[in-house]
Amino acid sequence: MQHRLQALRKALTEWQADAIITGKPVNRRYISGFTGSAGWVIVTARDAVLLTDFRYIDQAKSEAPDFRVINHERDEKAAIYKQLQELGVKRLAFEKAHITFATYEEWSQVFGGVELVPVAGVFEQIRAVKDEDELKVVREAVRIADEAFTHILSYIRPGVRELDIALELEFFMRKQGAASSSFDIIVASGQRGALPHGAASEKEIAAGELVTLDYGALYKGYCSDITRTVAVGEPPAKMREIYEIVLEAQLNGVGSIKSGMTGKEADALTRDIIAAAGYGAEFGHSTGHGFGLEVHEAPSLAMSSQTVLKPGMLVTVEPGIYLSGVGGVRIEDDVLITESGCEILTKSPKELLILPV
Ligand code: ZN
Ligand code: ZN
Repeated sequence: MQHRLQALRKALTEWQADAIITGKPVNRRYISGFTGSAGWVIVTARDAVLLTDFRYIDQAKSEAPDFRVINHERDEKAAIYKQLQELGVKRLAFEKAHITFATYEEWSQVFGGVELVPVAGVFEQIRAVKDEDELKVVREAVRIADEAFTHILSYIRPGVRELDIALELEFFMRKQGAASSSFDIIVASGQRGALPHGAASEKEIAAGELVTLDYGALYKGYCSDITRTVAVGEPPAKMREIYEIVLEAQLNGVGSIKSGMTGKEADALTRDIIAAAGYGAEFGHSTGHGFGLEVHEAPSLAMSSQTVLKPGMLVTVEPGIYLSGVGGVRIEDDVLITESGCEILTKSPKELLILPV
């Protein structure tokens, strides 16, 4: 974890802050290794302190060896303030996107002599580039999702409810070692395929429909996120047509994305193909997003994104076309940005699979 602390300390000097505090679970975990559900970390140029409660003291000591672990007992705010005073903190950076207004008000009252400095995206920028330890875990989260796709193909048939498919995916991934799915599983069949975030419903699959499955595994704190769209029996010609367009766009995306591009340029790799085919207005979301400890994190592959892609970033590439009242197609891979291009982590097939009815 030392290299993560180093990166954070570098950011601290840029903000001219003496310390940064976070209680956001994924940031706390990222910087300290502590996986418990409560606590605060304070990092200064020289020190690193983790305050948590009685339930977690032993766990924190073993998971966060680079941190001094302190039991904050009943008065958490007073305990934090005591540490700030001992550490000589005059300017305390806090994450303005994650601290509630109520907490800000309380800290302002209790932390006499400490200036609260609102900052944004400090941990998130560091987290965007993954280290080897993280990649190892993510590869396993992706492997579980790929295995689940192979498994679910024999389960999908006319008459099965979307909810049952979602449950079977989750059950399979947990048996493979996942703690849970990485978000609410999307199973959207037939007309429901036009809902980009169609959570699995009681609808039964019917012959001739496309089924979009969007899911991932949460494994050792890290997410995978994959989408495949399959046909149950022969699909209508229109759906075949949009499938081929989305596939061409997706292949161009993973074939051309590389470090040095902006998020906007990466987004155009899929968007331009879909727009040229006449479906620009039916592709209403961005091309992809970073993933890691959170299923959506920096960087974003979107028209508005000026973030420059770097080797070690993990992103999804997931174009789609959604025809209201008709159906939809989305295909999503997880990729690792490299110097010269990307490594596609998800291995599940992408040519249209037509399942027997
Ligand atoms: Zn997804
Ligand atoms: Zn996604």
